[in-house]
Amino acid sequence: FDLRNDDLKDMQELGQGNGGSVKKVEHTPTGTIMAKKIVLIDAKPSVRKQILRELQIMHDCKSKYIISFWGAFLADPNICICMEFMDKGSLDGIYKKIGPIDIDVVGQVALAVLEGLTYLYDIHRIIHRDIKPSNILCNSRGEIKICDFGVSGELINSIADTFVGTSTYMSPERIQGAQYTVKSDVWSLGVSLIELALGRFPFSESDDSDSDLSDFEGTLSPARPGSIALGLPPPRPRVKTQKKDKRKSKGVSLQGGGMTMSILELLQHIVNEPAPRLTPEGRFPREAEEFVDSCLLKDPDARKTPKDLLTPRIPFSLRSPIHHTHTTYAQRYHIQPAITYSAPGFPSRKRNRRA
Ligand code: ATP
Ligand code: MG
Repeated sequence: FDLRNDDLKDMQELGQGNGGSVKKVEHTPTGTIMAKKIVLIDAKPSVRKQILRELQIMHDCKSKYIISFWGAFLADPNICICMEFMDKGSLDGIYKKIGPIDIDVVGQVALAVLEGLTYLYDIHRIIHRDIKPSNILCNSRGEIKICDFGVSGELINSIADTFVGTSTYMSPERIQGAQYTVKSDVWSLGVSLIELALGRFPFSESDDSDSDLSDFEGTLSPARPGSIALGLPPPRPRVKTQKKDKRKSKGVSLQGGGMTMSILELLQHIVNEPAPRLTPEGRFPREAEEFVDSCLLKDPDARKTPKDLLTPRIPFSLRSPIHHTHTTYAQRYHIQPAITYSAPGFPSRKRNRRA
């Protein structure tokens, strides 16, 4: 339906990212609860309209692994994107509250994200570009869905004008300036899965340090020689860079004030050092370790696509209270009849979970 700002009543602040803020709202004419993302875009009216046109593709993105879209509109100087509200919020919020996520649930997350990515790419030729725990949402029905995918080239462009896009979930080849491919998303998924299973961002100085590099954007602290870890405070100022097209620059462009080597050191670390792993060895099932390793192959040619990771075998343990059967890709999208087989599991283990 036709969405207008006047019809949306604010209910609750859901969170703030670099690109804008998200609120829980009620669409008063229908009583529908939605999540409204407000993105501040410093762009010409023609560009804004183009963004709005591009966002309409989201109306066609229909998958149970993708957040559904209610509509978008301009509310100068912002663009508002209304989407399905997910009452359990994002996975980063969940693990920060309850601690490490049970590995079986992490397996479910892997499956949902791979399904979502495969759908986006196979059906719409969309590459997500921003897989990370804050863009994976859950609801109390137990559904896991991805959001904030790169549907609008103009929006990506406009946001890239501000220093926001750079992420520590970025694959080595992206850091080195290569094109985005679906395999870059697989890398980001691998980093995210480790983060959920360990309950902390994998690139931190040591196991007992709680420094977290996942949130460094716009808050870079002075260089700390020999350290790749930044223990950063939460405020996230929007830092403008001069660079117009960051997608063409290698990795990040860091300019001005407190922006320093630390982030460059981290990016260098991602490029030069072995990929992070699910550690310590033996704490997690072998299938889980191997799956994460396969997501984090540094050579993109060796790394599989989301679709290849899904077929013919599902990622790793999908054991849950309900017995899962798994269908092939073709079957899921009704392409042709295919066989059904059950998910491999691994012995259940007790985990120490702070719930
Ligand atoms: P970044 O801007 O770096 O990508 P982010 O993903 O956390 O970070 P936003 O996309 O603006 O930033 O989202 C802010 C927060 O709002 C998220 O962390 C999430 O918890 C919450 N959120 C976003 N979309 C929804 C939604 N559809 N339903 C419920 N909560 C949501
Ligand atoms: Mg987000």
